[in-house]
Amino acid sequence: MDSEYFETNAIRAQYDRSQHREHSVPLYLTSSFIFDDAEQARALFADEIEGNIYTRFSNPNVTEFIHKLCLLEGTEDGIATASGMAAMYLSMVALLKSGDHVLACRSLFGSTHQILNTIFPRFGITYTYADINESHEEWEKKILPNTKMIFVETPSNPALDLIDMEWLGQLAKKKKVILNVDNCFATPYLQNPAKWGAHIVTHSATKYMEGQGRVLAGAVLGTKELIKEVRFFARHTGPSLSPFNAWVLSKSLETLAVRMDRHCDSALKIAQHLEKNPHVSLVKYPFLPSHPQYALARKQMKHGGGIVTFEIKGGQEAGKKFLNAMKMISFSSNLGDTRTIATHPASTTHSKLSDEERAAVGITPGLIRVSTGLENLHDILADIDQAIEASQS
Ligand SMILES: *Cc1c(COP(=O)(O)O)cnc(C)c1O
Repeated sequence: MDSEYFETNAIRAQYDRSQHREHSVPLYLTSSFIFDDAEQARALFADEIEGNIYTRFSNPNVTEFIHKLCLLEGTEDGIATASGMAAMYLSMVALLKSGDHVLACRSLFGSTHQILNTIFPRFGITYTYADINESHEEWEKKILPNTKMIFVETPSNPALDLIDMEWLGQLAKKKKVILNVDNCFATPYLQNPAKWGAHIVTHSATKYMEGQGRVLAGAVLGTKELIKEVRFFARHTGPSLSPFNAWVLSKSLETLAVRMDRHCDSALKIAQHLEKNPHVSLVKYPFLPSHPQYALARKQMKHGGGIVTFEIKGGQEAGKKFLNAMKMISFSSNLGDTRTIATHPASTTHSKLSDEERAAVGITPGLIRVSTGLENLHDILADIDQAIEASQS
């Protein structure tokens, strides 16, 4: 039975129990399912009845995972995919055709940029970027007669700038375009884009949903009408999620709320702590009153998220020294793990961009991004403090 509360749905939404009366859902590692008789097989293939045929189409573990996600995001339907990027690609390619145009926010995950600026032009799908700090009027002017979709992420990575989802939802409605929000950073626990008018909500479940850095997965969630198109495309092109990964993820969702509470609580405390450090020139965190969009963050997010960014004095060189000095914190490009992770975008993920291009997406030379883990806060703070100290020598 569905609940009005997030935690209950995340734990209790469960696939039908088998004749073995298991308490925890078993793993259905099977590529196909058997038919009772010829009539049932015919009806299943004709979509007259619901049921499993082949794991590329559906599987009990995958169905459970996606059903939970729909409850948590407040969407009508959804499709699970093998990775977050499969979800991003599928959510666009299934709903766009040659001649269509996409308006996207410039602050996007790197591979999403590649889809828009390298892959789609080969198929006649064009795009325009809008900057997160451009005015509402500028955004609206960039919607062309052939614009079919708006694609955004909020908060942005790594700058942690926000997009006003209520305004964007209204704009998409007025212009009759599909609003697609990549909600990976915030997770459905912190914000629900569909509530503000997003027609499609995409996820990399690899990050906070999984939460322990083990498996990859993604999801495309949205209205019945749009997901019908997405399902057709997925069924015949095959980006399906493995039942094993779906089983891991459905278990992970059971603890998403408690994990996010701790990620966010520690992240806020790290941000407050860093604001007092004389070697730090800027700290950015959506729930710090000093964040330029603090009021918007309070309006559309439940907590500030697990990511904190800060600028250490000394620019690029200091950034590198900081990373080399870390004793416990992992130097990795992932995020949303039990382990605290730090990266220096200017010398790693965004090193191929020019200074101007980096500045346009909010990446300054000494910017450090911390994905707050679940270790004891004292240990995280001690490691950050000593690495900052070392970066100044
Ligand atoms: C990681 C990430 C993706 C890609 O997800 P994968 O599971 O790695 O394919 C897409 N969008 C955002 C915002 C991400 O952080």
